[in-house]
Amino acid sequence: MHKCLQYKADITRGCFRVKGEKLSIREMIQINCRGISLIFKLVPWNLPFCCITAFLDVLYSYWSYLFLARLVDDIAEKVSKAVIIQDAILLVGGYLFVQTVFEIWMHYYFYCSSNIWEQANYHLNQKIMNMDYEYMESEHIQNMRRDIDAMARNDGGGMNLLFWYITPVIEKTLHILIAFGYTAYLLSRCRIVFEGEPVKAIAFSVFFICVLVVMIVLSIRINKDAQEKIYQCSEKSLPYYRHYNFYTNEYIAKEECGKTIRMFHQQNLLFYRIAELYEKIYKIITLVKNLREKVSVATGIIEAVISGFIYFILGVMVLKNAITIGSVCLYAGCISNFLLHFREWISQLTQLAANTKYVKMYFDFIDIPQKKYEGTLPVEKRDDDRFLIEFRHVSFRYPGSETDVLKDFSIKFQIGERLAVVGKNGSGKTTFIKLLCRLYDPTEGEILLNGIDIRKFDYKEYLSLFSVVFQDFKIPALPLGENVAVSLEYDEEKVLYALERVGLGALLQKMPNGLETPIYTDFDRNGVDISGGEAQKVAIARALYHDTPFVILDEPTAALDALAEYEIYSKFDDLVGTKTAVYISHRLSSCQFCNDILVIDKGKAVQRGSHADLIQEKEGLYYTLWNTQAQYYQLEK
Ligand code: ADP
Repeated sequence: MHKCLQYKADITRGCFRVKGEKLSIREMIQINCRGISLIFKLVPWNLPFCCITAFLDVLYSYWSYLFLARLVDDIAEKVSKAVIIQDAILLVGGYLFVQTVFEIWMHYYFYCSSNIWEQANYHLNQKIMNMDYEYMESEHIQNMRRDIDAMARNDGGGMNLLFWYITPVIEKTLHILIAFGYTAYLLSRCRIVFEGEPVKAIAFSVFFICVLVVMIVLSIRINKDAQEKIYQCSEKSLPYYRHYNFYTNEYIAKEECGKTIRMFHQQNLLFYRIAELYEKIYKIITLVKNLREKVSVATGIIEAVISGFIYFILGVMVLKNAITIGSVCLYAGCISNFLLHFREWISQLTQLAANTKYVKMYFDFIDIPQKKYEGTLPVEKRDDDRFLIEFRHVSFRYPGSETDVLKDFSIKFQIGERLAVVGKNGSGKTTFIKLLCRLYDPTEGEILLNGIDIRKFDYKEYLSLFSVVFQDFKIPALPLGENVAVSLEYDEEKVLYALERVGLGALLQKMPNGLETPIYTDFDRNGVDISGGEAQKVAIARALYHDTPFVILDEPTAALDALAEYEIYSKFDDLVGTKTAVYISHRLSSCQFCNDILVIDKGKAVQRGSHADLIQEKEGLYYTLWNTQAQYYQLEK
């Protein structure tokens, strides 16, 4: 499939899969607590930081209310000038001091916290690189990873949101507790207003509490419903965003797509599709905007009712000498603080509740179990590299598939030998290599190394026996030396030797900084772009550098013509010396130099022998394929 179409297929298939998942409150608390404890584990200084930040914020807000109340009382009570000046200095100086400390602290806090998502992502990347390979080929797992990333980067959700809400939630809880403390104090002063009428005082207190509770419940309801709808919208918009991002960031900007766009005048079609997607996104954005505005109006009305009610009570209390005039400033500040923080507190808690799904998705990913048994046996180190590999009655089907790709597959081959594996596309050649390298384990049967089931060997040690150049090999944009050695530190002589052997000496001459020169110019202007053929050679040099007992070429040359592939394969055969080499190809001509050719058909080993032997078997698949393919090679020549 064309690369661009492949991207599109991936995107359209990718759906937001957390939809409709309902979590209980207990589960929500457990998941968020796990998230918070991971954050504190990743960034241990974060807990004291959050607490100090919340404390400074509360201090900063209440300092002015407390000292303003004191100053007003000083003036009302006509205390001495010296006391008034002292309180005024405390009010202004203290406020300035606390505010400055708070601002500096916040700057430092943001600076230190800016990489939290990268820290959480580091865990995710560790998981991706070390999880069983079969998960890498699972569309479900890949979409999960994409959604976690998109949620964190585009919407700032998941672990990211949890992190950023820890401090505000602590801070707002403190504000609310203080406001409740003041309210309790205010109610205790009711007995002065209703002197000698304790029943009225109690009735008024109950009424006051009821009004507050009703307003608070109403406010919670409105915020919660709106937040849930907003999150539903965000879920709905994600596939559109993904699709939209694909067209605008990936398709239009890609070199390989640029040719198709021009040749087929795709501009109008693409603009139409982009506009169509944006329209859908814009509808959702408008919906969210309207929702937010409605919530803002509704909560504004509730807040105005509560404030009016409390100001009325404060007025009555001052008139009845239940509180001082200065205290009105304090309570008024307290009320506005409470209303502001309470609204945000509810909104943040409802957002945290809705966000739990994405925190869960992060942990679901991190918790994907390691199915593969990683073994403990050390691999025997043999100077003579004499290893015998045996596939004994191996059958294999891919997870979720209904058909066997390999069926009762039995072969043996000895280290130091060359084995060519040929067969039509889709016959199971690459799957054979994947099983040999334990990227998958057989569904039935066993694979033995010197008579021992390969599952028993230490996985890393076993893997270090192989160097494979896959059909879809990748060369990352890193310095040439690091690319070949797959290490930051390497033996330069050895790298140069590997590059010389694959015929990249001339390329090295062109490199301005030798082995330090980055391959490709994507991320470094001093880099050097290399052709597809040169990239293949770098991949082969990488395999040779590692000097493993097995080297495998799994059609890395599929994009070349048959003659070029034959040349690379036969040249490679000279390079590998005494090692075991396995050659995979669907083109028989590429492997004819090899004395041991295995023919696979529909997951079965159907023939084995040298080219000269196999071509004699007129009834065999090899003979038929050879004759069919020969016409094309002659044409190509
Ligand atoms: P070959 O290398 O001979 O071209 P493969 O071993 O790549 O063949 O594939 C053999 C069969 O297994 C094909 O039908 C292919 O579609 C299927 N297959 C390959 N990879 C997967 C996978 N990850 N999941 C499901 N089926 C797969």
